Amino acid sequence: MSSEGNKSASNVAPLRKTVPCPECGRPSHREHYPFCSDRCRNVDLNRWLTGSYAIPVADDESKAADEE
Ligand SMILES: [Zn+2]
Repeated sequence: MSSEGNKSASNVAPLRKTVPCPECGRPSHREHYPFCSDRCRNVDLNRWLTGSYAIPVADDESKAADEE
């Protein structure tokens, strides 16, 4: 399906490919991968610690399943 996992010998990249920072969308910094900075990393970490990553819509799903 996706060729993203393929390792191509012609693509010699010693560094990790940058990805958009999950916090602000800027290109990731390899020292803070996958975040762009230590700040964004901490923001994300704090979010986990404070539980803001609350279980999203599990309730909805069980309701939907009930209806069937
Ligand atoms: Zn960021």
